[in-house]
Amino acid sequence: DELISQIAAGEVVERPASVVRELVDNALDAGSREITVKLVAGGVRSILIEDDGHGIPSDELPLALRRHATSKIGSLVDLESVATMGFRGEALAAISSVAEVSISSRTEGAPHAQRLDARSGELSPAARGTGTSVEVRELFFNTPARRKFLKTDATELAHCVDAVRRHALTRPDVGFAVWHEGKLVQQWRRADPDQRMKDVIGAEFVEQSRPVDMTLGPMRVTGRAGVPAAARARADQQYVYVNGRYVRDKLIAHGIRSAYEDVLHGGRQPSYALFIEIAPDRVDVNVHPTKIEVRFRDSREVHQAMRRAVEGALAAPQA
Ligand code: ADP
Ligand code: MG
Repeated sequence: DELISQIAAGEVVERPASVVRELVDNALDAGSREITVKLVAGGVRSILIEDDGHGIPSDELPLALRRHATSKIGSLVDLESVATMGFRGEALAAISSVAEVSISSRTEGAPHAQRLDARSGELSPAARGTGTSVEVRELFFNTPARRKFLKTDATELAHCVDAVRRHALTRPDVGFAVWHEGKLVQQWRRADPDQRMKDVIGAEFVEQSRPVDMTLGPMRVTGRAGVPAAARARADQQYVYVNGRYVRDKLIAHGIRSAYEDVLHGGRQPSYALFIEIAPDRVDVNVHPTKIEVRFRDSREVHQAMRRAVEGALAAPQA
């Protein structure tokens, strides 16, 4: 059983950034407005995520760590149309099989917070306001082979910041801060969507890109498409979200690339930030544990929509 959990963990947890992504997902699902990430040694020694969400009732605290325990899916019907970020009930169980985990949480109106130590199962009273703190220490302490694959602290830290950045771009209504060994390394204050895009991708990108907003059948595509001629357009800043989830999808990337080739006749890959909203029953997000991949019911429809949405934006006379 221990082994099975460790194998499952291998799919979910690749490096500290995978932990950060899962824990930030959970914090967002809990309705948090401010999320703080505190890291030591690139997250390998310690990852602490504090949120001000609705918290976990103390009698449900032990459940949160159990495999396939999720408070977010009531039935198979729900699984078909997942609206929250988490839904598999795997993350916390997987993480606690490869690291030392403790959770402190307090719901509104509870007399105090409760802390659960995953290893011992011990519950004890703790001090904190409404919300949840999850601490993950010594990642891969019991799987040395995997620990060896981790890169330098600086590289792992950069991946952790990237993970938070991907959330930050799509959730301007939430404030994010990342600390490393006592130093604030990145902060995004709550802002309107345009301001958040400036804060994440850069003011230059927002000023020189074209707005995208097109509804095609069951899909709506919004966001901004960069123009390759823009000074310092960064090829590595390509963000695509499906129903709020950051995804990497070849089909979507190809649709976007085709639009650039059609209108601007190729050239450098530009920056873009595109948000796809699609009826939940037309997309399967339950493909891979890390949830970065999705499967569409009608992939041609999605490819076409991306191409037309971006073409429309690029071909429009500049405002
Ligand atoms: P999932 O997110 O897929 O449900 P997880 O293993 O990530 O599974 O989390 C298990 C459960 O623990 C969640 O369904 C939720 O009830 C609870 N939980 C985890 N993190 C938080 C948090 N930050 N705030 C409130 N509840 C949380
Ligand atoms: Mg989760």
